[in-house]
Amino acid sequence: MILILDSKIGEQSPEYKQLLGHLATLPGIQSRVHVERGSEQTLTEIYLIGNTKALDLDDMQNLPGVERAVRVSEEYRILGRHKDDQRPTHFEYNGVRFGQDTLNVFAGLCAVDNREHVEIMMKAVHDCGQVCTRMGAYKPRTSPYAFQGHGKLCLPYVFELAGKYGIKVIAMEITHESHLNEIREALHQAGNPTGVMLQIGTRNTQNFELLKIVGRQTEMPILLKRGFGITLDESLNAAEYLASEGNRNVVFGLRGMKTNMGDPHRNFVDFSHVPVVKRLTRMPVCIDPSHSVGSRAAAPDGILDMMHVTAQGVIAGANMVLVDFHPAPPKALVDGPQAMLLKELPYFLDDVQIAREAYLKRVAHRKGQG
Ligand code: PEP
Ligand code: MN
Repeated sequence: MILILDSKIGEQSPEYKQLLGHLATLPGIQSRVHVERGSEQTLTEIYLIGNTKALDLDDMQNLPGVERAVRVSEEYRILGRHKDDQRPTHFEYNGVRFGQDTLNVFAGLCAVDNREHVEIMMKAVHDCGQVCTRMGAYKPRTSPYAFQGHGKLCLPYVFELAGKYGIKVIAMEITHESHLNEIREALHQAGNPTGVMLQIGTRNTQNFELLKIVGRQTEMPILLKRGFGITLDESLNAAEYLASEGNRNVVFGLRGMKTNMGDPHRNFVDFSHVPVVKRLTRMPVCIDPSHSVGSRAAAPDGILDMMHVTAQGVIAGANMVLVDFHPAPPKALVDGPQAMLLKELPYFLDDVQIAREAYLKRVAHRKGQG
């Protein structure tokens, strides 16, 4: 059970102390306090663990300082969407809002190759009025002989250029706990000109020790990619690992499933799960058309498959699009064949906007049905 406290109740108030004192007397019940400090208000929640079936919801709701009590009915205790649960579904990071009601596009390099390409990419993103990008520094590769990413060596210029072009959030995969400190250190050295959304890649979705370490830090939000060969439930539990360690600022990423049933796409596109994840959890949902489709194939209408699937995800309510672009795809060290061209960026963003407007219209249309 979760007790959501009145936002006016401070940790020093007599009601708060009285409430904690009362909870301590409940037999077989332990409580864990979670405080979420937002820009507008502080949300305090108390998680009751143990024999909560014995507790009466109304009794709990009437305790001093409690605004609402929610019985946890699903297994994703923190990130899940419970019955009568109207808690917020958004967070803010470095001035950018991420929620189940927003849409952010992260167009950028799959892998950082050199400073020049990073600068061209960031300038293009900036010129299109965008403040987010993707920049892979640590690349998990199938072959040990393939380019593994420049790692910490590229971080100083990536962060410096992000500051120069007003980039607020960079999605960047990490594969090891040491990368966390390298990113922190490089951000600090550069004077924190930008922010990083830590990406857990599909190959690490169930790397539980990595999840625990990344979940224990709360300064940077996390993009958790769905595991490519496990069930949705297993991937949502992986997200819950992050939250159970303390970081609830988690975006859930759909990136296609590994099966040849999806051929000729690189992965079987799973964007029909956008509304499913939004129904089961409070996480914003990201789609990755590049790693799902994996090529520049186009339909007879001239539209790239990657753009068709992006539109399909966005029209179903996706909240973030993570997409590979490159100034010179043939020269890209990773995933060149699926990179979109810089001249396609404004057109891509317009196409996303068309799908977004259609989604908002669909929502309004639904509301009109009463
Ligand atoms: C990526 O986004 O660069 C990536 C490797 O994605 P995934 O983990 O989904 O394969
Ligand atoms: Mn890639």
